[in-house]
Amino acid sequence: MPKRVLVIGAGFAGLAAATSLADKGYDVTILEKNDMSGGRARVFKAEGFTFDMGPSWYWMPDVFETYFARFGKKPADYYNLVRLDPSYTVVFSSSEAVHLPAGLDKLETLFDQLEPGSGPKLREFLKQAAYKYEVGMNKFVWKPSRSVSEFISVKLLFDVARLDVFKSFASHARKFFTHPRLLEIIEFPVLFLGATPANTPAMYSLMNYAEMALGTWYPMGGMHEIVKAMVSLAEEKGVKILLNQTVQKIDVLKNKAQRVVTTDGIFEADAVVAGADYNHVETSLVAPEYRNYDDAYWNTRVMAPSSLLFYLGINKRVPKLQHHTLFFDEDFKLHAQEIYETPRWPSKPLFYVSAPSKTDPGVAPEGHENLFLLIPVAPDLTDDDKTREYYFDMIMSRLEAYVGENIRSHIVFKRSYAHSDFKQDYNAFRGNAYGLANTLRQTALLKPSLKNKRVNNLFYTGQLTVPGPGVPPSLISGLVVADEVAKEIT
Ligand SMILES: Cc1cc2nc3c(=O)[nH]c(=O)nc-3n(C[C@H](O)[C@H](O)[C@H](O)COP(=O)(O)OP(=O)(O)OC[C@H]3O[C@@H](n4cnc5c(N)ncnc54)[C@H](O)[C@@H]3O)c2cc1C
Repeated sequence: MPKRVLVIGAGFAGLAAATSLADKGYDVTILEKNDMSGGRARVFKAEGFTFDMGPSWYWMPDVFETYFARFGKKPADYYNLVRLDPSYTVVFSSSEAVHLPAGLDKLETLFDQLEPGSGPKLREFLKQAAYKYEVGMNKFVWKPSRSVSEFISVKLLFDVARLDVFKSFASHARKFFTHPRLLEIIEFPVLFLGATPANTPAMYSLMNYAEMALGTWYPMGGMHEIVKAMVSLAEEKGVKILLNQTVQKIDVLKNKAQRVVTTDGIFEADAVVAGADYNHVETSLVAPEYRNYDDAYWNTRVMAPSSLLFYLGINKRVPKLQHHTLFFDEDFKLHAQEIYETPRWPSKPLFYVSAPSKTDPGVAPEGHENLFLLIPVAPDLTDDDKTREYYFDMIMSRLEAYVGENIRSHIVFKRSYAHSDFKQDYNAFRGNAYGLANTLRQTALLKPSLKNKRVNNLFYTGQLTVPGPGVPPSLISGLVVADEVAKEIT
């Protein structure tokens, strides 16, 4: 009889872990609390619009290739990718915007225009970043990080030295560029990692390589197409996905997870992989004596920002908007301080607008625009309707000033989403959107472990354990944990 593995949560990590384990011959069932797979990358439809609920940037296409190749497939078997050009637009004021072109030659020209001589510097910066990407994404992120011994080899130590692990991204960037606009452009991708450039290791210039050299892509139909592809592959491998199954308890006997109790039934297990929010699993699903980390540990973790989101349907086209637009028209330092140092609702936040209907006519009715607005905010804030509306008005005024036309009176659908929704929908610790920040002290061995120390057959996966937040790392996390399960549960 094949061993039975229960996977909690059908996010990217849970789906990847389940598919890999089924492929290895395990009998795998996913228990998911919501009525749809995808976790933070769910989708909803309203008034003829299709809204991706979370991720909107498709970066690191090679990771998706690697994922599907494991099972003899490729992304193109499931969805059509298009490369965006411009990759994105940065708005510095209502009258100043920079469009980042796809392709290195065009990027170098743009850099030279803003800061003479910076084109060749960009080439050198990206050459170093390419090495970091190669080592970081092909070696480090695939390590389960359960023991220091994984990192002890002369070659790896040499790599660590060249990776700039102990330098800050901010100071590294300033060795190449001085123009404030270029610095903002270069520092933008590390904001995905959930910490300020000053607190992010310079190794993460690999993100610039990902964005500038490998490109910004979009799966036609929307980001949820990736989830649909993964679900289809999982089911092809024999994974059973049970929706509307909120896990309430993991029963442990003699240091083994024996059963998982949901709102709907009891499931026997030979191993459990928890892809739900790590803190939720520890504090709500296992008895206190089996927790890996106490409250003091969790209370000192640096979380990546949460988000205040708006999904809008607009009954006209907005010509000036591109697919991705970043509003860097206010002081980032103040916003960062209000996220990380003195957490509170920000005074004048930066924000981001995605308009997938610019690329994909299928996500909005004809002649309409589908908009997704995101304000990064500190975790654990109270997000009542009044607060949400206050920020909605603030960013709509800035958006309208930039596009030069009224948008508010053309809204035919509007929904907001913030901390309390993240908690309710995903049991998200402190209402986090993207998990733990990728600071040096929260990297690799210093992240919450993917194995329970007291329960021999309980594993963790997802954005709060290795390698970290983001769609590609979550996929990798699922594959890495599946390999660990296969080593131990035979
Ligand atoms: C607004 C937003 C924008 C983002 N933008 C990007 C982007 O552009 N590009 C990018 O790469 N990444 C982006 N990310 C990050 C990325 O979406 C996440 O890192 C990734 O989706 C996390 O996947 P996961 O499987 O770890 O977790 P989740 O997606 O949270 O999956 C966990 C699953 O567990 C389920 N669950 C929780 N508790 C229980 C329980 N008790 N019982 C059963 N099931 C349970 C949840 O319902 C959920 O389905 C974004 C995230 C957000 C929120």
